[in-house]
Order: sequence, then structure tokens, then C-alpha cells
Amino acid sequence: MNKPWFDKIRKIKPYVPGEQPNKSNVIKLNTNECPYPPSPMVKKALRDYDTDKLRLYPSFECNELKDILAETYNVCRNNIFLGNGSDEVIALCFQTFFNSDMPILIPDITYSFYDVWCDLYNIKYEQILLDDSFKIKKEDYLKKNGGVVIANPNAPVGKYMELCELEEIINYNKDSIVIIDEAYIDFGGKSAISLIDKYDNLVVVHTFSKSRALAGIRLGYAMCGEDLIGYLEAVKNSFNSYTVNSLTQAVAIACAKDREYFESCRQKIIKTRERVVYELSKMGFETIQSMSNFIFTTNPKIKASFIFDELKKQNIFVRYFNKPRINEYLRVTIGTDDEMDLFIEALKKIINYYF
Ligand code: PMP
Repeated sequence: MNKPWFDKIRKIKPYVPGEQPNKSNVIKLNTNECPYPPSPMVKKALRDYDTDKLRLYPSFECNELKDILAETYNVCRNNIFLGNGSDEVIALCFQTFFNSDMPILIPDITYSFYDVWCDLYNIKYEQILLDDSFKIKKEDYLKKNGGVVIANPNAPVGKYMELCELEEIINYNKDSIVIIDEAYIDFGGKSAISLIDKYDNLVVVHTFSKSRALAGIRLGYAMCGEDLIGYLEAVKNSFNSYTVNSLTQAVAIACAKDREYFESCRQKIIKTRERVVYELSKMGFETIQSMSNFIFTTNPKIKASFIFDELKKQNIFVRYFNKPRINEYLRVTIGTDDEMDLFIEALKKIINYYF
């Protein structure tokens, strides 16, 4: 028999992230982390860190970090909101901005945390179908709504939407907030940050987890007009005032200053991605054009679930989503060239075995 409090508990189906295998010698291509270490400046920042500072609460304003980001993106300090990973930042955006009777619009295939936050915060949502090539159809977002959320490039498909198309959506939806999740924008796309001065309904979210190789420090940030920042800060400060810890701030400042390293890392990943797509095409795989640090690929002749299981047996972890429309695809993070060579060799063996 259920306890009396059972019915009153909020029951939620949580987001399930990619596996973090607890063993060495794995090739981990399943959570879109950066295969390269963070900037050497990060190591130095940690070595030089005065641990006595850990007695104190971290800087509340995080101005030094905001200033370096403001300089990087040519915005003002007051246009930046920091959080403990972009997951937290986006969750706070949902909580702050989506409070309407109208549903928010999200693509049917997208980052699978969005509908979880909708359920958590009781936000109505409508899933808008991507077309058969997994493209976001901008016309479908030109209608009344309680908000819009678009990942650009979209996850897990990797496809990028041109900024001019995105701007049409933002411009049409001046009555609601439009969130553009740019977790993967540094791998070839053009950021919408340039539009935040023009549109006060626009929020652009970035992360240090991918192109900056710092998933472990948990830092994400939103960039938008000052008014929206104020509302976000108020919600955050009603929940936890010190979201970004001192070590994260020190590490992120060192990382953001090293633009040369950032540039070389992302160029390497883009180059490897293009090579891997070509190699896969020679093996009969069809890959969605990606502007991300991952690819979404299918082989019409072999079940994706089979390839996934076989790769795992060889300690190669990729991501498989057993969901309608995408259950014949694998999402593969771009690793180092050596890792991708081993991945391709493993695929060749699987294909030979299969036929
Ligand atoms: N947005 C998208 C589209 C993602 O794929 C991820 C990573 N899972 C995130 C946001 C969150 O990244 P983080 O919390 O590490 O900043």
C-alpha cells in the first residue's frame, strides 16, 4: 500500500546523460566532451591558486570572469549571467521566462533536457517536427507561443540553422522570449550574440564544457539584454546565491584568456570531423551535415543498436537514442585523430562481421 504522502510527491522522469564509464582504456565518444586537455594556462591557474581563499564564499558578482567574456564577445558585463553549467543556466531561464498559458515551442528532436525542465516547472510545450532531413523549419515557429527554444547547432543531429533564418524567428516572436542554446556554436556556426543589442527578447546560452574543454568545472553563461539578466539574477538568488565557485572562476578566467589555444583546439576538431565523415561515407554511412563536435550517422544496411553494442564490447562508447525517427542513428563525438582511427577500424571489423 502506498504511503499517504505518495500522491503528493512530484514524480519526474529525469534527463539521462551519456554513460561515464568507470574504467580506463575506453574511447569515450558519447558525451561531446573535448578530446584535448584544457589550455595549459588552466594548469598554471590551479597551481598558483591560493587555497586560503577557499575559506571564503566566492565572488558574488564574478566581475573578472564576466569582463573577460564581455571582451571576448563584444558585449557589456551587464549582459552576462553565469551558472553552474549551461544546464543550470537554461533551467533557470525556463523557470524565469516561461510562465504563460501558451506552450513554448521546441523541435521534436532536440536536446532531451528541454522537455524534462518543462515537466519539472509545469511549462506547457509543443514539439515541432523537424523535416525529413532533420532541418528546423523556421515557418513553424512563426505563430503565437509562450516562448521558443532552439539549440543551434541542434543536438543530437548537429545541423546548423543560418543566422538570417534564426533572426526571422526572433524578430517574429517579439512577444515572447527566444532562447538559443549555442553549446556547439564554436565548431563552425555563427553566433546569435551579435543580435542581443537588437532584440530584447533574445537569450543566447554558451558553455565551457565543449570547445573550452572544461566540462568538469561546470560553467555556462547566458547573454542577453540587461532587463532579462535582472530577472534571471532574481530567480537565481532566490535559489542559490553562489552558483559559480571560486576554483571555477579562476580556471575559467585563465582559459578564456588563452584565445590561441581555444582557436587551435576547435580547428583541430573541425578538421577531424570532416575527415571522419568522409571515411564513414566510404563505408556506406550517411551522416547529417554537422557544425558540431559530434556527428549523427546511420548505415542503412546495419542496425544502429547492433553497431552501438558491438562498439561498446570493444570499449568504444558512442550514443544511441532508442526514440522514434532517430533509432537508426548513432551520435559520435569527435575525438582525437588517433581515437577516430581506432573507431573507424572497429567499424570496419563490425561491418565485415555483419556481412
Ligand atoms: N545544451 C546542449 C544542446 C547540450 O548538448 C548540452 C550538453 N549535454 C548542454 C546544453 C549542457 O552542457 P553543460 O551543462 O555541460 O554546460
